[in-house]
Amino acid sequence: MRILLVEDDELLASGLMSALTRANHLVERVDDGQKAIQAFSHDLFDMAILDLGLPKIDGTEVLKHIRQKGNQTPVLILSARDATQDRILGLDLGADDYLTKPFELDELMARIRVLERRRSGHKVNQLQIGKLSIDLSALSVTWNGKLIDLQRREFMLIKKLAENPHQVFTRDQLEESLYGWNDGVESNTIDVHIHNLRKKISPDIIKTMRGVGYRIGDIESI
Ligand code: CA
Repeated sequence: MRILLVEDDELLASGLMSALTRANHLVERVDDGQKAIQAFSHDLFDMAILDLGLPKIDGTEVLKHIRQKGNQTPVLILSARDATQDRILGLDLGADDYLTKPFELDELMARIRVLERRRSGHKVNQLQIGKLSIDLSALSVTWNGKLIDLQRREFMLIKKLAENPHQVFTRDQLEESLYGWNDGVESNTIDVHIHNLRKKISPDIIKTMRGVGYRIGDIESI
């Protein structure tokens, strides 16, 4: 997923960024409330992790603002404010979940998976299309029972396509879900990933829709 991390604590933010990246998410981080509102206005994110005690604009104000603007991005509040009242306020303002600091990283990751499943309409951590199976918790891909060794972006790409099996994605959309603001992207990079996935999994795993984009292969052929 493309995740917006709003956190002003440098140490915590960098720890979270490495953990989320290891879990094959794409993370953009901002460190104050004003930048958070700006980032949300692009409406590019699959979910956000939002601290409340932020410089410039408090996290509760950020949340109130984006929900008033109609932004529906799932938001998980990660805050040191642990009073029941704060949690109720956060949830009532439109947060999807609330975790208090200090927290266990494993629990945060599990809660992120819940939001991810809710978003994609899946009840389990497993995507299954034909012989293709993607384990979202173990971050593994098997095809016909055989474990496939994928690079991080290859995993992100096949997951993106498999989550939305009827959707055709343009190259730009795929690029956007794989690369962050500061990543330099070569123009043929998506083609390279697709080439590799076809080679590693099956030639039919990804279908090219001429002049439009790509989607996951037909279930009968994969
Ligand atoms: Ca803070």
